[in-house]
Amino acid sequence: MIKLEQVNKSYRKDSVEVRALHDVSLKIDAGEFVAVIGPSGSGKSTLMNVIGLLDRPDSGSYHLDDGEVASFTSDELAQIRNEKIGFVFQTFHLLPKTTALENVELPLIYSSRGDISGLGAQALERVGLKDRAQHLPSELSGGQQQRVAIARALVNDPEMILADEPTGNLDTRSGLEILAIFQELNRAGKIVVLVTHDAAVAEMAHRIVEIVDGRIVRDKPVEESKDAREVIANWAGSGDISKEVAP
Ligand code: ADP
Ligand code: MG
Repeated sequence: MIKLEQVNKSYRKDSVEVRALHDVSLKIDAGEFVAVIGPSGSGKSTLMNVIGLLDRPDSGSYHLDDGEVASFTSDELAQIRNEKIGFVFQTFHLLPKTTALENVELPLIYSSRGDISGLGAQALERVGLKDRAQHLPSELSGGQQQRVAIARALVNDPEMILADEPTGNLDTRSGLEILAIFQELNRAGKIVVLVTHDAAVAEMAHRIVEIVDGRIVRDKPVEESKDAREVIANWAGSGDISKEVAP
């Protein structure tokens, strides 16, 4: 469970102060699938970085499960991040000279789990890329690279997946494949928090949180979430798919 209360975060550049998060209160329960939307510069990535323990709030409180994040040392934060949180980024962040499988296995190096053999291969299988284990990122399509990144995020079996514009660099079809994987992971019980500026993508979640100028301005359930697999199945493979996924 994620619980932010009155969280503020500012950045100072020269003499200009930007308030990236302004009294943000947000609670996300186990099993939720939340889309975070808002214009560029509104604070979405800052919010993800705070939730993902990559950045600390200036003020306010953040409870992750039962712990107050402010009370953790940086080592504790790193460990919690490794165990509980999987990140997926717009630009994949894969190591270029390293195979898909080795990329996926990277987080296991820091894991305190005992038997880790086979976990990387399992994670690749879960995203449908078992047969690409020995490929380098440059030998994979953008959609496949993002699936490798998702496998890497999954390899430690985290409670939550935080994805910042994960479909931003992908064509519509590949983006839908990624969304279908997030929907499956969510059905399997993981919290998914997905930043997007695409309204059609947000409709795949169960709840939409809108942020403008660092403030949450709207927080509403999605009445009938679109199923990404269904959209793919019903899509003829040509024409403008965004019409079919539009709210
Ligand atoms: P979004 O992801 O919605 O585009 P961000 O969270 O990246 O927005 O940024 C929110 C605001 O904070 C923006 O005005 C941005 O310029 C500013 N900002 C973000 N990161 C930094 C930083 N490291 N230093 C200075 N300003 C930053
Ligand atoms: Mg951003």
